[in-house]
Amino acid sequence: MKTGFLCHELYMWHDTRSAALFATAGLTVEPDEHIESPKSKRRFRSLLEVAGMLDIVESIRPEPATITDVTRFHSKAYVDGIKVMSDNNGGDAGELTPFGPGSYEIALLSAGGVIAAAEAVWDGKVKNAYALVRPPGHHAEAELGRGYCIFGNVAIAVMKLRAVHGAKRIAVVDWDVHHGNGTQSAFYSDDDVLTISLHQDRFYPQDSGAIDERGEGKGEGYNINVPLPPGSGVGAYEQAFKQIVQPALERFKPDIIFVSSGFDAGAVDPLGRMMIHSNGYRDLTKMLMESADKLCGGKLILAHEGGYAASHVPYCGLAVMEELSGTMTGLEDPLLKFMENIGQQELQPHQAAAINDAAVSASL
Ligand code: ZN
Repeated sequence: MKTGFLCHELYMWHDTRSAALFATAGLTVEPDEHIESPKSKRRFRSLLEVAGMLDIVESIRPEPATITDVTRFHSKAYVDGIKVMSDNNGGDAGELTPFGPGSYEIALLSAGGVIAAAEAVWDGKVKNAYALVRPPGHHAEAELGRGYCIFGNVAIAVMKLRAVHGAKRIAVVDWDVHHGNGTQSAFYSDDDVLTISLHQDRFYPQDSGAIDERGEGKGEGYNINVPLPPGSGVGAYEQAFKQIVQPALERFKPDIIFVSSGFDAGAVDPLGRMMIHSNGYRDLTKMLMESADKLCGGKLILAHEGGYAASHVPYCGLAVMEELSGTMTGLEDPLLKFMENIGQQELQPHQAAAINDAAVSASL
């Protein structure tokens, strides 16, 4: 079976308006490109084509998510509000989430893209899949767009697999450098969905993602946060996967594993302050594939989230795709050697202590 890949040109047409980084342009902020622009996503897809990867994968076509799909998570009032703004020259979905005309339809296509890729994996049409969607989704809450996210793509796809396709137990691993607060909130009192987020400590949102947010009611113990110190490299991430992610997945025994795949923990990301390189993402993918092979017939679906270094994201993405498909294209990452040799790329004592604290809180 092949690896599935999904993208669509309209994802690149989602307009995040003028800004400097994410500060809205105005009289004191000279207009520039918003940090969440199409660039890193477009270059990721382009590199896959140049490397020959697009000839190897099974192309999956996105369909827009339906209102029924998105309102399993979001309130109807929130969804309607996005449509009204989108039909009237755009607006902001809540917090730091500006959008232009047509972004309602594009956000539905983004959520629908993750659904289509997840269904292809669930139905056994592909062995695993990567959905290169935009806008991202893991910060979006039921009634509030946050952090460039309009609809909670992964949460919506998880809810559809459970409601329509008979999936029972689903795990979500979020390696984006920011906390997956939206996905956490969607399943906080649910013991059938295990949510694990690895992120830079108190980065965004700054008031969420602590180790004592463990879920509530019957969901207690089914939400795991691993806040890592800024400066964490491949050594820290691999240790967190060995000590927390893999054992938690084995204890939970999911039917399928989702990954919120942000490459903003990369070493030259303009927002994140972490140091992962393309081989690091390759290794993390390998570890998730080992768990998926052991627990759920290899069923693994990655949904794109953040990642803002247009120079670096494509190589991280290619490494992940090579691992998922089991095919080395021979196209080398020109930045890899530099990044492998950055000081403290290996696990540091204060990082080990933070990982230990998270493991203890998760009873691992
Ligand atoms: Zn992010």
